[in-house]
Amino acid sequence: MGLWRRELWRLILLVGIGLLVGWLLSLPWPGLAVGLAACLGYHLRQLCRLYRWLTLDAQSEPPAASGIWGDLLDRLYRYQKGQRQTQERLLRTLRRIQESSEAMRDSVVMLDRHGDMEWWNSAAERMLGLRAAHDRGHHITNLVRDPRFVDYFHRRDYREPLTLASPIDEQMVLQCQITLYGDDERLLMARDITRLHRLEEMRRDFVANVSHELRTPLTVLAGYLETYATYADQLPSRFARGLPRMQEQTVRMQNLVSDLLLLSRLEIDRGGEDHVRLDMAAMLARVQRDAAVLSAGRQTIEVELDEPRALIGSEQEIHSALSNLAFNAVRYTPPGSQIVLRWRAQGDDACLEVEDDGEGIDPVHLPRLTERFYRVDKGRSTATGGTGLGLAIVKHVLLRHDARLEIDSRPGQGARFRCHFPAQRLTAAARSGATGTA
Ligand code: ADP
Repeated sequence: MGLWRRELWRLILLVGIGLLVGWLLSLPWPGLAVGLAACLGYHLRQLCRLYRWLTLDAQSEPPAASGIWGDLLDRLYRYQKGQRQTQERLLRTLRRIQESSEAMRDSVVMLDRHGDMEWWNSAAERMLGLRAAHDRGHHITNLVRDPRFVDYFHRRDYREPLTLASPIDEQMVLQCQITLYGDDERLLMARDITRLHRLEEMRRDFVANVSHELRTPLTVLAGYLETYATYADQLPSRFARGLPRMQEQTVRMQNLVSDLLLLSRLEIDRGGEDHVRLDMAAMLARVQRDAAVLSAGRQTIEVELDEPRALIGSEQEIHSALSNLAFNAVRYTPPGSQIVLRWRAQGDDACLEVEDDGEGIDPVHLPRLTERFYRVDKGRSTATGGTGLGLAIVKHVLLRHDARLEIDSRPGQGARFRCHFPAQRLTAAARSGATGTA
């Protein structure tokens, strides 16, 4: 308020002097006009100085001025200084982040809200072939053109990482993960997992080869054992006694080998070539019949169909998954239990379910149930002919069909194994719902 008053006094003084000189010269009005012009001239001059300072050399000290102009210049100078300091601090932080990202062995690429590349570290140049001079501002999918990456990028569901070959080196395997941040911007991280991938491949090949190699000797053993069993009455009783046990163990080993081979195939093959429209009613009826043979009347096995759409998938793989679930239900439920095989709609999606009212499973086991060779009760699994690979096979089959397995169970309240298939895996089918009991 003091500044305004001083400025007002300056105006009155200049106008007053002009008026006084004009009055002395008997020209009061021109004197007043000269006083006002002097006042205007003073402000115009200060405005020019401010303009020159701001446009030419705003970093230097502001021009000296008094009154309201002096205060304005001072404030502007202080504000600019504060802004400069904040900017420098931000720049320092950004530089530190860029230096630490630069030191990382993983690729880091910053993408704007359109997916155009803004910044990346040198690891990204090595792994993804980005070139600082050419590629800044280009869309990431122009550089990483693998259709799976393009699909992953647009899907916007980045919970799981994506494994793909480097765009500049087929032999290099990368694991990519995108994170959304800020104003729909994205951070792409890529890690070189070539070594890990090779080890994993070696493990898979080793298991597949050993299983394959064991197949022939086991077939020979089983064949001879069968022949000996036919002539068991001619053998000394101490040899004949062991025959059923040997046959039983040979069958167990054969089951194990065939499950291991199936798992290896599910892991190695890309799958998809044999995907057809599946007649779910026929498949459920078939599995119901097979499960009834295994059950031998100990349990009731029902089929419920209330989803008219058919599933698009591999007949052999879906049959194998459903059989594993149904046979487990028969093997792990007491006599008198009820088992239901169900194909039903769930919103736009559909579920293939196997539910029983048996003893159920303690929830502590549920997260690990699909791991290879994980058993709740090892003795019981072995006694019922289990290989410990059934649910691992189910999980892999579902992965190849964009589906997921949900297990719901409590001790004493039975178990429900639900295979959840997304709508894009379903198609109109020729026949509608039906039910049946075995
Ligand atoms: P296994 O060959 O031992 O049956 P799986 O992978 O098929 O191997 O199953 C893993 C474990 O899950 C089994 O050992 C069993 O304890 C449990 N399980 C599977 N299905 C059921 C079920 N319907 N009721 C109770 N327990 C089950």
